[in-house]
Amino acid sequence: MNTAALTGIGMTSQRTRTRMIERLRAQGISDPRVLHAMDLVPRHIFIEPALANRAYDDTALPLGFGQTISQPFVVARMIEILIAGRELGKTLEIGAGCGYQAAILGVLSKQVFAVERIAPLLARARENLKQIRLSHIRLKHADGNLGLPEAAPFDTVILAAAAAAVPQTLLAQLAPGGRLAMPLGTAEQVICLFERTDKGFVETRFDAVRFVPLLPGVE
Ligand code: SAH
Repeated sequence: MNTAALTGIGMTSQRTRTRMIERLRAQGISDPRVLHAMDLVPRHIFIEPALANRAYDDTALPLGFGQTISQPFVVARMIEILIAGRELGKTLEIGAGCGYQAAILGVLSKQVFAVERIAPLLARARENLKQIRLSHIRLKHADGNLGLPEAAPFDTVILAAAAAAVPQTLLAQLAPGGRLAMPLGTAEQVICLFERTDKGFVETRFDAVRFVPLLPGVE
């Protein structure tokens, strides 16, 4: 864990961030590692200045390009599901957006690869992540439907965009024992976990959620 670079940043937001952590606890997030990472990463630096006063509200916020930064509870919930009883290890994130979730994953993973299909958003994620100096996060402009074959296999894959079915290419890039979490569905979506076991993939469904769609290609 490389957290030294994070301490001291955004102290002014510490009070509202503490409130966010209390709220996450009340909502049922209990893994101390997840709560610690959520407490460490300053969400306001990932958000446009005009919206920064809402950075620690439990709500999705617009990122531009029709995309949204995920709600803190949903980020925490998906990661808690992925990390339960193990470590995240080597992680692939599909849909880096502004880089907020990549930063949380960066605190909890050995290595993070995050792909984003919208080039200017990826550039913003790069700028944002530079401020918190988590050097083991690699960003790539690519279509996440293809995964990242050159860095596979992954212990953890997380999708920040919803699809009607799990992309088989992404399941194929999971290491033995690896886990993939995604919002599954179109109009109605649930968090879905796929775990690679000796006997094949085991699927478990969790909370109802609302994510932007996983789109094809890059722009
Ligand atoms: N992880 C972000 C959430 C961004 S919203 C956060 O921390 O807030 C989801 C992102 O997924 C959008 O930026 C969208 O452009 C991206 N996305 C959608 N389809 C994609 C694809 N096929 N490959 C890569 N990124 C994709």
